[in-house]
Amino acid sequence: MIVGIPKEIKSEENRVCMTPAGVEVMVKSGHEVLVEKSAGIGSDFSDDAYARAGAKIVHTPKQIYADADMVMHVKEPLPPEYDLIREGQIIFTYLHLAADEPQTRALIKSKAVCIAYETIQKADGSLPLLTPMSEVAGRMAIQEGAKFLEMPQGGHGILLGGVPGVEPATVMVIGGGVVGTNAAKMACGLGAKVYLLDMNLNRLRYLSDVMPANCFTLMSNPATIRKLIKKADVVIGAVLIPGAKAPKLVTRDMLKTMKNGSVLVDVAIDQGGCFETSKATTHGNPTFIIDGVVHYCVANMPGAVAKTSTLALTNATLPYALQIANQGWKKAMQDNKEIKLGANIIEGKVTYKAVAVAFGLIY
Ligand code: NAD
Repeated sequence: MIVGIPKEIKSEENRVCMTPAGVEVMVKSGHEVLVEKSAGIGSDFSDDAYARAGAKIVHTPKQIYADADMVMHVKEPLPPEYDLIREGQIIFTYLHLAADEPQTRALIKSKAVCIAYETIQKADGSLPLLTPMSEVAGRMAIQEGAKFLEMPQGGHGILLGGVPGVEPATVMVIGGGVVGTNAAKMACGLGAKVYLLDMNLNRLRYLSDVMPANCFTLMSNPATIRKLIKKADVVIGAVLIPGAKAPKLVTRDMLKTMKNGSVLVDVAIDQGGCFETSKATTHGNPTFIIDGVVHYCVANMPGAVAKTSTLALTNATLPYALQIANQGWKKAMQDNKEIKLGANIIEGKVTYKAVAVAFGLIY
């Protein structure tokens, strides 16, 4: 199969969908890989590195779409690419179609085979191609929280880990899934006093077994949040209710009781945010202050650490891409249910219920 790797064109997107190491594996499996010139620059991979791995460097996305059997991306195809997509071509990337009608209609019209990273699902319900980005965002949330606690950044000047003889900061993490667990681990490692809240008792039992001694698990409810928020220096919002907007767990009234210069990091902002006062921000202007509390609400946190994110994402996508390339999409979907669940639009037909429901399309 010919696999195409175009350069990402979405603004502030520095990731690339395959590393030179991934290209080498593809080529050794008998596939040809086309990489658009400079595709890896944002993640620090040169064209030479791709060429040494066996890729052919091409100059335009047009050449990729014209020749590749499967085009991989990180972000969804954008309008300048719609007309380049060919009938029967495999498009394998994050698509997030249910929130994007123009793209959905363009992909239906293209008659391509569109497989979305975000709906590939394991038998236990986990989403293996979303997990790596949650790991990145969770770990990064503590870095950002620590940074914005510094006085020149608007924080109240507390060092997360304290020092001998001085108390550490108190970190409250709401949601003990992938983001929350990774955030709590980082905060514990820095020596903070960490409270990790979730609504799922079995999850809390597991976390209580595996987390370090400076992590205290608590059942999430309004009373606990109201009590703890008064002493928190950093609060991480990391809840997810699949298919729904994030619940507003920290209200404006609760915010008023927080310490001046404390920091909220709302990782769940991509689902609307779990603090009443959150609104999405960008890496260029990541924070705002309400009632003396610094809010960090960047919706695409992994974009700031493009190299780590590229490596983490491609570690997870490569086995699926390889199976699709080796077997073709039909056989790969027959043999691997996880890939079948990734199918969103096949040759003009919507094959993912949530996308059809979102736009009243036939499923
Ligand atoms: P996850 O499903 O692994 O974990 C979510 C957890 O929230 C679950 O354990 C669930 O029990 C818990 N939860 C649900 N309601 C709760 C409540 N009321 N109180 C406490 N806990 C509750 O999800 P995840 O991968 O950790 O993702 C968390 C959020 O982070 C999602 O909204 C995701 O889209 C977002 N995210 C954002 C970025 C970014 O760049 N901003 C990056 C990655 C993920």
